Amino acid sequence: MELLDYDMVVLGSGIAGLTAAIHASRESGHRLSIAVVSKLHIMRSHSVAAEGGISGVLYSGLDNDNEKLHAYDTIKGSDYLADQDAVEVLVKGAPDEIKFFDHIGVPWSRRDDGRISQRAFGGMSVPRTAFAADKTGFFMMRALYDELLRYKNVDVFNEHFATEFIMDGKRISGFVALDMQSGEVKVFKSGSVIIATGGFSRIYGFTTNSYSNTGDGTAMAYRAGMPLKDMEFVQFHPTALIPSGILITEAARGEGAYLRNKNGERFMKRYAESKMELAPRDIVSRSIISEIRAGRGFEDKGTGMGYIHLDLMHLDSKKIDERLPMIKEMTIKMLNIDPSVESIPVRPAAHFTMGGIDTDIKGRIGSGKSVFSGVWAAGECACVSVHGANRLGSNSLSQCSVWGRSTGIEAARTAGNRRTKKTRKFLNAAEKEEKKIYDMLEKEGNLNPYELRDSLHDIMNSELYVYRSIKGMKNAKKRISSLLKEFPDIYVADKGRVYNTNLRDVLEIKNMLDLSAIAVESALRRHESRGAHVVAEYPKRDDKKWLKHTIISKSLGGMRIAYAPVKLTKWQPEERKY
Ligand SMILES: Cc1cc2nc3c(=O)[nH]c(=O)nc-3n(C[C@H](O)[C@H](O)[C@H](O)COP(=O)(O)OP(=O)(O)OC[C@H]3O[C@@H](n4cnc5c(N)ncnc54)[C@H](O)[C@@H]3O)c2cc1C
Repeated sequence: MELLDYDMVVLGSGIAGLTAAIHASRESGHRLSIAVVSKLHIMRSHSVAAEGGISGVLYSGLDNDNEKLHAYDTIKGSDYLADQDAVEVLVKGAPDEIKFFDHIGVPWSRRDDGRISQRAFGGMSVPRTAFAADKTGFFMMRALYDELLRYKNVDVFNEHFATEFIMDGKRISGFVALDMQSGEVKVFKSGSVIIATGGFSRIYGFTTNSYSNTGDGTAMAYRAGMPLKDMEFVQFHPTALIPSGILITEAARGEGAYLRNKNGERFMKRYAESKMELAPRDIVSRSIISEIRAGRGFEDKGTGMGYIHLDLMHLDSKKIDERLPMIKEMTIKMLNIDPSVESIPVRPAAHFTMGGIDTDIKGRIGSGKSVFSGVWAAGECACVSVHGANRLGSNSLSQCSVWGRSTGIEAARTAGNRRTKKTRKFLNAAEKEEKKIYDMLEKEGNLNPYELRDSLHDIMNSELYVYRSIKGMKNAKKRISSLLKEFPDIYVADKGRVYNTNLRDVLEIKNMLDLSAIAVESALRRHESRGAHVVAEYPKRDDKKWLKHTIISKSLGGMRIAYAPVKLTKWQPEERKY
């Protein structure tokens, strides 16, 4: 087994991972040896799909905007579950991140006076989302990639699938990865690891996410003993194309698109009279499902899916071409619908995971005395928590950039003190994992992995969607635990080693099963409705009992559940009206 030894390793090459690697390298004067390890080629990382933009107060005072207002919008949007100290870090850091991307070459859309344009987004009081047409993530990723290629001290390992961390108590020593091209198992040895492996919305069948968003790093962290936070909160984006789940960015509504039911009515007036289509996503998604349930939606004949209409027809077609070109291209290609003359059929789809690896304000994992050593998490895999129970659109790219930078700098500053020794214990752990991977490849079994994955998707789509019930979640728990019991009988049809996507899929399915079980357990125990978690039996937010984070970690007997207080600084919870 090949052993690769680095001062520092960044696991994941999305916006969070690349930002971390770049700032770590700069901080060390380009002296540290750094590896970026990714199961995909860098430019296939999910971040390239980000469409609408990145939030940040660029011109304080313009439109009466300021950082305090950005913080307030974010906290109110989070249904008061966000940690307010972390939100303050987010809003303070975000403008500099947008400027950083300007310097490394992102072609921001601009106003006539040359300033960076900012558009309206759901739950934001004023337009504060910077954008590059509707391909913001692609341009940010391209700029990061171009920048990173200049750094000779950074090695990139594309298409290396990490499977398990190697720990020495609470210290990280590295991880094992499968090189997809050769089929060889390799071990990365490093005392400094930044986990930036993205979200896990692929546990749902109907999702806006790339196939790769299976939450591997989050599942690995859990199995290595690290705590996970607020896993019950999964965001459903209101406007995904049916039946594919492809996203129609919120920027469409930011540019003025309407939502209409089958009577042609702009129904958001019933649910969020002042914000209408630009209410936060949890509210808009609930409103859409309520309309469909009330018989005011449409039904797709092929799939039986309920949906409503997103209308852009009243917008100037020049505006659509300039600001939403990808949306137009996609609806024409996927559904043969030209949005300047026809309505777009949409319904809510799993989109973003607010929960993830429990980090403190510096991106360190765990808290107090139980902080893990040498390991940080940044980006969507991390729950810091700035999004609480419901993220506001365009706040994720800011989070990825702010914590990508800060974890990169902190890891670089301490990397010199953290050399890992090549002990027998380390090698044993790596060899054990190598054996586990090859055993999985070679063993026989009767269970088709793709049927198992479909069953999981059915459970999550039906029982953990926009509206939940205790009965449904109990059913989900039972069915997922029987899938976990069946898992050892799964088989990998392709027995070859080179580019074995069957093997990768099976490893991903195990990660998704683990995370689904945790999400269901966290959801079942939260007896209130807050943000994206809405339970029929407990329809109200309950700040007296539930203004707290769910923390789940692995214990000998299964899952250990604890709760941690939400950090309030300036803003007391209030009724959420839009
Ligand atoms: C369609 C869509 C549009 C969006 N638009 C916006 C937007 O406009 N604004 C906004 O703020 N947010 C948006 N979001 C959310 C935002 O895109 C994501 O939250 C963000 O890009 C996540 O970035 P990341 O760096 O954390 O992870 P990702 O970009 O998901 O990258 C994860 C990385 O981890 C690697 N990885 C994962 N598992 C392994 C493994 N086992 N081994 C090795 N490597 C691994 C992957 O290869 C990848 O490189 C959007 C989301 C979707 C689905």
